[in-house]
Amino acid sequence: MMVREQLEYLGLTVAANALDGYAQQAARENWGPTEFLGALMREEQTARRERAILARMQFAHLPYRKTLDQFDFAAQPGVDERRVRELATLRFLANGDNVLLLGPPGVGKTHLAIGLAIAVIAAGHTAYFITAAELLARLGRAAAERRLDQRWRFYTRPDLLVIDELGYGHFDRAEAHLLFQLISRRYEKGSTIVTSNRSYSEWGELLGDPVLATAILDRLLHHSETLTIRGDSYRLREKRRAGLLSSSPEEHARATKNG
Ligand code: ADP
Ligand code: MG
Repeated sequence: MMVREQLEYLGLTVAANALDGYAQQAARENWGPTEFLGALMREEQTARRERAILARMQFAHLPYRKTLDQFDFAAQPGVDERRVRELATLRFLANGDNVLLLGPPGVGKTHLAIGLAIAVIAAGHTAYFITAAELLARLGRAAAERRLDQRWRFYTRPDLLVIDELGYGHFDRAEAHLLFQLISRRYEKGSTIVTSNRSYSEWGELLGDPVLATAILDRLLHHSETLTIRGDSYRLREKRRAGLLSSSPEEHARATKNG
């Protein structure tokens, strides 16, 4: 067998394809054998790492891909950049801590959750993104079909679970119970990021059961960080900047009334 075939036989296809190029370069530049082998293996290793990241990115089901570096902190003074940078070190993930991102629509909660998920994936861990509504719908179906155990295994496995938009719809009792079970099962095992446009005091009403809401919040908040974002919707601000809206809702109302 030729070396190229041996590499292919071993599944090192990237190295096999790079072999000739590196062999020529090694001869040209008088590389030692270790240097040559190192360069070849590095090529294979890099390709594998990238493939693994790609696979984890696909698995994560992110609704869009925006990194923390794409977040404009100057445009959103309601977000403490220092705390986001601290979260980006992924210490919270190592500790299994949860992160709650609270605030009105459009302030960047989902963007930050996605940015953190991408950082988690790039660092070699797994993440999974789902909206609260979709999560509850799937758990409800699984419960009806008596295959919840398999769902629990699925949702407890990712190192990071993002539950987006908790609070855009009300839960019935059964749903609140499913959410409680999920949070309990992930409790102290893996990190969960929850985004919500509701404050904690509204969760009782949202979940239709103050006792259950307290139990859920208890577990969620025990090891956790909350970022409460105050401020304007980034989307509206962009429109305003483009001159499509005046600078405040009051002015906007006046402007539209006058013509
Ligand atoms: P929320 O989840 O809080 O409703 P999003 O995170 O979905 O808001 O933000 C709405 C849109 O505005 C997204 O496209 C997001 O990338 C963008 N966005 C929000 N805040 C910022 C920011 N500070 N810098 C850059 N883009 C932002
Ligand atoms: Mg959102």
